[in-house]
Parts: sequence; C-alpha cells; structure tokens
Amino acid sequence: MQQRVPASAAYFFYENYVLGSARIHAGWCGNCNDGRGKSREPPGDENGRWHGPFATRQDALRLALATRSKDVRNALCCIRDSGEA
Ligand SMILES: [Zn+2]
Repeated sequence: MQQRVPASAAYFFYENYVLGSARIHAGWCGNCNDGRGKSREPPGDENGRWHGPFATRQDALRLALATRSKDVRNALCCIRDSGEA
C-alpha cells in the first residue's frame, strides 16, 4: 500500500543539534526516506531530528532558517542546484 508521490511533492530537512546544521532533502532521497532517515528504527532525537514534510523547498528553507541552526544548506545528495534555494 505504499504510495509513490512525485519527487517534487515533499521536502524535509534534518536539523543536527550537534553540528548546528540543517540540511534540506527531497522526500525521495535515500538519506531522507520521507523524513525517516536511513535507519529502520524510529529516528532518535539525540543528535537531531527530521522536520517536514514541506510542500516546497522554500518552505523547508524558511523553517530550517527558523531553527537555531547556523549552517543551513541543500543536501547535495538529492538537491543538485547549489544556488539559492
Ligand atoms: Zn538527500
């Protein structure tokens, strides 16, 4: 019963408390896995947490910038354009 959503449908970002960073991923990305991350276990929030889904990358970026993360960027694994989000 798994539904495929278009790649453009959802964006997430991972806030890393330890590094003080946030990385914006597309939901289809293997590292993001619709906000579940790579682990099969429920994501722990010791080192950070996923936020999302967001309908647009701009929304994800806005919320990522609203965290205390000092370093907010697109994840290179799934978002190729390195320009302004
Ligand atoms: Zn990614």
